[in-house]
Amino acid sequence: MIQTTAGTTRKQDVKGGIPLAELANCKSCGKVFVKVSSPYCPECLKEQEKKFDKVYDYIKQQENRMSTVSQVHEATQVETALIYHWIHEGRLLTTMFPNLGYPCKSCGKIIQEGSICDDCRKRLERDIARLEKEEDLNTGDHRTTYHT
Ligand SMILES: [Zn+2]
Ligand SMILES: [Zn+2]
Repeated sequence: MIQTTAGTTRKQDVKGGIPLAELANCKSCGKVFVKVSSPYCPECLKEQEKKFDKVYDYIKQQENRMSTVSQVHEATQVETALIYHWIHEGRLLTTMFPNLGYPCKSCGKIIQEGSICDDCRKRLERDIARLEKEEDLNTGDHRTTYHT
């Protein structure tokens, strides 16, 4: 049974408007909005942009380039989750800021590329190797960008 909570959500008239619009709850504030590509509502995105500028202004300075995520967080007060997100997205480049990283999805260890750490990857690779025999999975595009 579907219950509609009338009154709590404002009805928006989008007749003839955006086709294939998808309503979603903002990942940050929980508000319902029309999802385009981001899991965040426009207001939160704007906030995030401001925060990104703050983080970037801080870390782009020569003396701050070696900062870790927690140091950036302390200096800017921006949530570590957001900083991780930007690193993962590649907006904050670990080639430029070598001490930035984000936690491995599997064990939480700080990593700089992919979604999981080497240890977890090796574990997964063993599983994948088994799967590869069945599926024709080809991941030949390995990017190794280590600048030291
Ligand atoms: Zn929001
Ligand atoms: Zn791991």
